[in-house]
Amino acid sequence: MNKKDFINKIVITNNFKETQELGHDFAKVLDKGDIVCLYGDLGSGKTTFVQGLAEGLGIKQRIISPTFIIIRQYDLKSSAFAKASVGKQNSKFFYHVDLYRVGSERDLEGLGIGEIINNKNNIVVIEWAEKLKSFLSAKRIDIEFFYKKNNTRKITFRPRRSVRV
Ligand code: ADP
Ligand code: MG
Repeated sequence: MNKKDFINKIVITNNFKETQELGHDFAKVLDKGDIVCLYGDLGSGKTTFVQGLAEGLGIKQRIISPTFIIIRQYDLKSSAFAKASVGKQNSKFFYHVDLYRVGSERDLEGLGIGEIINNKNNIVVIEWAEKLKSFLSAKRIDIEFFYKKNNTRKITFRPRRSVRV
């Protein structure tokens, strides 16, 4: 699989493990500098997906929901990701950003999100990315999460969010 295979892909998962596995597979097509934006209601599976994604990058720490801490940083330097190919060397950090608690763009000031996004040696995944508004990187991969019922989720990959945010 490569990145193109995920564009406009729609996946129905029937339990949290399947969503983690999807995140794991998706991590394998990521490049250094990629920005991944996740959209969807609470409980739709965003953090679950990030757990699999981080594991797919070779990050050993457990990903927990950073609801109170907006940004969590994980080392990519020594990860399997950085060792996978020449193009992935010099990778620095994987950032898991959760903007759920962010009320206004003002709350974003001082977090250094702009620098994190613009550093081509990072990989950044952002939950509730619609709150970034003007900060939002034009070049990004958008993934929409939809709670269907109980353990069923619909996950849609887009090259870029079709709706203006
Ligand atoms: P979000 O980050 O979008 O708020 P979470 O990933 O934190 O959502 O929570 C999703 C919850 O739903 C978890 O408790 C997870 O175990 C559960 N769940 C049940 N089925 C699924 C599924 N198919 N995909 C993802 N999570 C699921
Ligand atoms: Mg979450």
